[in-house]
Amino acid sequence: MNKEDNSAFGDCVEDLTLNNEVYHIIKSFAPISHARAIIKENNIIIKIPKYYNGEEIKNSYENLKKRVVKALLKDADRFKTKKLKFYNREWLKDVFGNLYLIYIKEGNFKRIEATTDRELIVVRLPKKLDEAKKDYYVAKVVIDILSRILLPKLEKRVQFLNTNYFNSEINKIIIRNNTSNWGTYNRKTHNIGINFKLLFTELPILDSVIIHELAHTKVHNHSKKFWDIIYNIVPDYKEKRRWLNKNQNKILKWEDNMAQNEPVC
Ligand SMILES: [Zn+2]
Repeated sequence: MNKEDNSAFGDCVEDLTLNNEVYHIIKSFAPISHARAIIKENNIIIKIPKYYNGEEIKNSYENLKKRVVKALLKDADRFKTKKLKFYNREWLKDVFGNLYLIYIKEGNFKRIEATTDRELIVVRLPKKLDEAKKDYYVAKVVIDILSRILLPKLEKRVQFLNTNYFNSEINKIIIRNNTSNWGTYNRKTHNIGINFKLLFTELPILDSVIIHELAHTKVHNHSKKFWDIIYNIVPDYKEKRRWLNKNQNKILKWEDNMAQNEPVC
């Protein structure tokens, strides 16, 4: 790769060959709090906080490089753009049993937009958009609109489980996308975060994650006391979590397109 090619990202510092594929490692400095790596096609962008000193730069670079190599050796396909994963008509069934039809209308629209009429979600997709990015943008607007539709239902479910088992103080429920966690609980704000994907699993699976986060309102760590609470309410918790981790990339069909924009480290 020559210098002009990656001037937008930073400096290409080295090339890496893994399983016959050549990857360009690009080092860039940014006003961020910690170093991270992003894999986009054959580019590995290692972002380093601007204020790091020589030793910190060297250490974080080597550390991230190691983790990227590990991730690529495990599943390099995860970081490749897959063509048209989103079909013109896509059916989705949510955890509460509702079926949605996502209908994609391509035309001379100015910007991408999604509207909903009950179970029908219409995405207006501008023809002029970069072909490789279309799926990513469609997924983004679909996730936005479905999060809005499903939030009140999710809030109700969390309240129901909370009233039944915990009676804790809870503030906001937030649906999160592009996260590596299934759920989060913030003990300062009392907010609970739920991974968007869980809204398309089975209810007992979603419940097991909600119970996990609600249990953190009582016990902040993962001590025996915490697991006693969990297994008391969800005896087969382990199997549920195993199913989730095994099937995480199959829950949403367009998932792979989203993954390439996520930081790996
Ligand atoms: Zn936990």
